[in-house]
Amino acid sequence: TTCLAFGCTAESETLPYKDSKLSAEQRAADLLERMTLAEKAGQMSQFVGLKHIAESEEKLSPEQLINSDAHGFYPGLNNDDLIKMTENGEIGSYLHVVDAQEANQLQQYAMNSRLAIPLIIGIDAIHGNALVSGATVYPSPISAASSFNTKLVKKSSTETAKEMRANGSHWTFTPNIDIVRDPRWGRVGETFGEDPYLVTKMGVATIEGLQQDDFIGPEKVIANAKHFVGGGDSINGLNIAPLDVSERTLRQDYFPPFKAAVDAGVFTFMAAHNEVNGQPSHGSKFLLNDVLREEWKFSGFVVSDWLDVDRLHSLHRVAKNQNEAVKLSIEAGMDMNMHGPQFAKAIFELVADGRLTQEQLNDSVKAILVAKFRLGLFEQPFVDESLAETVNFNPEHQKTSLAMARDSIVLLKNDHNILPLKNIKNIFVTGPNANAHTILGDWSLPQPEENVTTIVEGLQQVSSKEVNIDYLDVGNQVKVLSEQHISEAVKRAKTADVSIVVVGENPLRFDNEGKTSGENVARAELDLYGKQLELIQAIHSAGKPVIVVLINGRPISEPWLVENVAAIIEAWEPGSFGGQAVAEILYGKVNPSAKMPISVPYSAGHIQSIYNHKPSTYFKSYVDLPTKNLFEFGFGLSYSSFEYSDITLDKSSIDTSGQAKVSITVTNTSKVAGDEVVQLYINDNYSEVTRPVKELKGFQRISLAPQASQKVSFTVTAEMLAYYNLAMEWGVEAGDFSLMLGSSSRDQDLQKISLNVKK
Ligand code: BGC
Repeated sequence: TTCLAFGCTAESETLPYKDSKLSAEQRAADLLERMTLAEKAGQMSQFVGLKHIAESEEKLSPEQLINSDAHGFYPGLNNDDLIKMTENGEIGSYLHVVDAQEANQLQQYAMNSRLAIPLIIGIDAIHGNALVSGATVYPSPISAASSFNTKLVKKSSTETAKEMRANGSHWTFTPNIDIVRDPRWGRVGETFGEDPYLVTKMGVATIEGLQQDDFIGPEKVIANAKHFVGGGDSINGLNIAPLDVSERTLRQDYFPPFKAAVDAGVFTFMAAHNEVNGQPSHGSKFLLNDVLREEWKFSGFVVSDWLDVDRLHSLHRVAKNQNEAVKLSIEAGMDMNMHGPQFAKAIFELVADGRLTQEQLNDSVKAILVAKFRLGLFEQPFVDESLAETVNFNPEHQKTSLAMARDSIVLLKNDHNILPLKNIKNIFVTGPNANAHTILGDWSLPQPEENVTTIVEGLQQVSSKEVNIDYLDVGNQVKVLSEQHISEAVKRAKTADVSIVVVGENPLRFDNEGKTSGENVARAELDLYGKQLELIQAIHSAGKPVIVVLINGRPISEPWLVENVAAIIEAWEPGSFGGQAVAEILYGKVNPSAKMPISVPYSAGHIQSIYNHKPSTYFKSYVDLPTKNLFEFGFGLSYSSFEYSDITLDKSSIDTSGQAKVSITVTNTSKVAGDEVVQLYINDNYSEVTRPVKELKGFQRISLAPQASQKVSFTVTAEMLAYYNLAMEWGVEAGDFSLMLGSSSRDQDLQKISLNVKK
């Protein structure tokens, strides 16, 4: 054996797969030939990290552990069994390994195996490596989307990759590029919202930042496009529930972010929990083979989602037993099973029965091995255990997290310019999210107190000495809010100049009592959970201005707020420095610039409320409630005022392969410097198949000094106007298109010009 700084690898022989001068593909092909069936099945098997199991066992009740949905429970297997299996080459991957020590330990077990194939370690690092304590927690994807800032998204992803590698992980299950059409779904916070174009741009920026082209090198990781497909539109908003959707909508709206992910080189895909048109994604040859591999030429590997191969049998009932489920899934194109020992056992039985051949596993195993070769794991499976301390939450990463938070907080309402706060002496702050770590969002585990700036702490930090901050703790969980809290709040609001009430949701994973959003936390209503509205209304009755700050993963539909409070700040899940960024915005030290990446429906009954709806959607109205959204996609206020003028086109007509340039002048007519997100929408005036009233096709974030003007131009190609016609052919139809430029998707915020496309 050869011993490197942090562990030992088997003596290097001159076998081709050990020769780093050969390509990853050549090495994988050589290694594959040396592998037994058990080793192949092992490479296709992923298990949960040992410490994560131990921690889950501490946090979850026995009932929760027995429930097969709980992470980290293998009936009949203990950690010693997993170690033995790793040493036998029967486990190729772990997920949720929480630190470098554990990663090295597991890699050492893998190095003891016959072929010494290193493990690939995956984790849900979806806004920073936040399942690891001490990590930089960046704003959640829904916040990232609000920033319309792809540069920062890419930068934060590159930094996340560094933190992951320093902690022994190589592969993150992100980006989640589900298109959200039902915000009752609990996972909105981990998506980039409702618009295919914005989701595509954000997804690609994430992949580029994480993989940095080819993920060769010690600071890069593999990305994962998920969930393929349609998780954001399952019926009733319930996770895992079916999706029934036309192929046109699939191809027009749901596929583009995934196709773009393949084009950006994403090396792994995750199938969706849900069925699509009667076929569970995990058994869908149409999705995993015909579209993904045949049409799009994807050459990486597909990982299953948690327990979903089993569920082909146990839940969806398209397979009569577990073995049939494994066969169906492998034949459809699934390559690695997330979680559970039944998978390999099924492979052995299927092969022994002649129902599956070893050859059918080869492509899967080869792609997994290619990933490991490219990551450099055969050369160095171990990680320097002292790295994490300097890489995790380092000053550069902190800066990026704060910059993203500043760019992602949306000012939704600001009556009489109450914000930014001025001439204020006494501020009353309260609400369940005022001093809570809920700002960290889902897919984060507890972080050190000193790394997290809550809203109250942010206010204390940013306020001048003359300002008195009076904070009332009403409990971190919405359920704890009592009548006593409410009456105390009213008393204190009366003596303050202004009240800041921080409400919303609790997405924290292990907070089993108070969780109101996140994975598997769907809601039937979209109002403020529990007594939060009551608290705000009581404070409002004190007669002083009320500013509401929302910390939430999904849109909150609360018309009373929109009509009554002085200001509303949609802070989403702004990460480690969320409190600082919110306070800076309240005081005008930062000028808000973010825009909504998703519409806010008037109520849950108004779903679907997407901006890119068809022309007939709102031909009729509701009799009981207004037929409108509370806030529209692309909307967000600023302390500056921007004027749009002189929309022009460099030509009025193009042919079906041509392009034109559309421009507009944006002027900051205020005395405050600010950033604006200029948005380009298109509409096909007449088409053979109905098309949305608006479709986002471009955006640019610009900075304007007071009184400054800038001409902003977009290239519009015929391709950008294309769609699937009646014959399901992709192309652009001749005719007139409206190009709309402005500050949101609302008609009153857009200037229009017509472009003709001729055959
Ligand atoms: C989620 C995935 C996630 C996986 C691993 C599943 O329940 O649907 O998105 O990557 O768990 O944590």
